[in-house]
Amino acid sequence: MIIIKKPAQLEAMRTSAKKTATILHRVAAKVAPSVTTGELDDYAAELARKEDGICAFYGYHGFPGHICCSINEEVVHGIPGKRTIRDGDIVSIDFGLDFGGYVGDTATTVVAGTIDPEWQRLLDVTQECLAAGIAKAVEGNRLSDISNAVQILAETAGFSVVRDFVGHGIGRDLHEDPQIPNYGPPGRGPVLKAGMTLAIEPMINLGTHKTKTLKDGWTVIAQDRQPSAHFEHTVAVGKTKAEILTLPDLG
Ligand code: MG
Repeated sequence: MIIIKKPAQLEAMRTSAKKTATILHRVAAKVAPSVTTGELDDYAAELARKEDGICAFYGYHGFPGHICCSINEEVVHGIPGKRTIRDGDIVSIDFGLDFGGYVGDTATTVVAGTIDPEWQRLLDVTQECLAAGIAKAVEGNRLSDISNAVQILAETAGFSVVRDFVGHGIGRDLHEDPQIPNYGPPGRGPVLKAGMTLAIEPMINLGTHKTKTLKDGWTVIAQDRQPSAHFEHTVAVGKTKAEILTLPDLG
């Protein structure tokens, strides 16, 4: 069942999502060669504590990090730890925060140092895919209009869409209905209504869309070990336009 948020619930989502985005923004700004993923994780935990928020991923099905930190061929769910970021890496950071009983979820992929132009194009296109998906999160559209917009853009650019992981509804719970694939024909699935809150999160690969999970039980990588990018926003479906809830407070 897709939960339609009432105005007061939407307001609580706005507050939580803005805090989530501000923390992600600050953590992502720390990404640089020689920084470890564990340092990024510690910083996220510290910022969440200062905001009196709960890191939504920590302990989720036993996940051991406060962020997911996925480098290069890692698609999602990378575990932060001792790994040192190197020049030329792309680093995806995914962060969820529960504040006041509502969860925000957002991800970005940032560059450490200087990267290959084709990798930069992958990042740019993935960000455009997210924007294209969000543009379809409008009342009266069908859910798969979001999916299709992401897929068309990614594949037109010559990249592939990860199938094994999808976006999701979000609210009191990190994962609510519906699941939001980043591929598929348009015009399918539930009709979108204002007040639905969705985490839209394209994961786009330079090579094959196929993934596998490493022995740590979490880290998902591209099977061909080519790079992968991931961007995510929590949005509210609107009557004429989606509202992006996970915009950082840059003040
Ligand atoms: Mg998510």
